[in-house]
Amino acid sequence: MGTLFRVVVHGDDAAAAQQAMDAAFARGRELDARLSDYRPDSEINRLTHGRVSDDLWTVLVMAQRIARESNGAFDVTLGPVVRLWREARRTRRLPSEAERTRARAQSGWQRVRLDEAARTVAIDPGTRFDFGGIAKGYAADEMLAVLRERGFPRSLVAAGGDIAVGDAPPGQLGWRIKPDWTNEQLTLKNCAVSTSGDSEQWVEIGGERYSHIVDPRTGLGLRNSSPVTVIAPRGLLADPLATALSVLPREEGAHLLRRFPGVRAVRP
Ligand code: ADP
Ligand code: MG
Repeated sequence: MGTLFRVVVHGDDAAAAQQAMDAAFARGRELDARLSDYRPDSEINRLTHGRVSDDLWTVLVMAQRIARESNGAFDVTLGPVVRLWREARRTRRLPSEAERTRARAQSGWQRVRLDEAARTVAIDPGTRFDFGGIAKGYAADEMLAVLRERGFPRSLVAAGGDIAVGDAPPGQLGWRIKPDWTNEQLTLKNCAVSTSGDSEQWVEIGGERYSHIVDPRTGLGLRNSSPVTVIAPRGLLADPLATALSVLPREEGAHLLRRFPGVRAVRP
């Protein structure tokens, strides 16, 4: 998934903790093989139609729900647009109007149809997925679940800015987490926290600073995006909602959040 995963576990039995961490990382690698767009052989890069793994189904259902509720501000079918934008970040040249129009025409969450009863997926030809805004949050949830199952509920899994936390560390109220845009610490347990923002990944072109998050309406990276941190019961929600809130105007973002009880956002 193009990032480093970090795991913290509190417990008494170091050997058992090591085994639990190994199992958690194995689960992470399994998800990488399914959901990473960096791997040509990943499930999402080979997908055409039909039945998919339980993991891909779970992620697609949530991705499509958030795409619908955010009017496409968050959209995992933006693969062509994200790829074009990655190229622009690399070469420091904006894509042409024609290139952007073509990439946008090949994108759109309506290109994917989920048949809940048959549990199958139908996808328009030429669709390219990019789960970069949701896979890390889901992976953090799933790795934390492995640690919990193995008897280590006082654990944390961090995939860059996507973090899932279990029970509090011994003697503490929660895990102290400081998003990189603020000096304020959050104290959290049994939830997920995701930060989106351009403090780490951005590029300057023609004197403008652009984010690695793309605006589906322009096909360009976001300009002047301000950071946002989302706290939710699961990373599967926190991660994509943080990305969606980055794209949407504040009012629309607040409207989106009201549809997800138990989720809150912190922003400057
Ligand atoms: P990070 O990768 O830094 O955690 P995000 O969770 O916001 O940040 O995800 C950004 C990634 O998601 C991009 O690198 C790209 O792969 C993908 N992406 C970019 N724009 C969008 C968008 N509007 N909707 C869905 N995914 C996006
Ligand atoms: Mg995200």
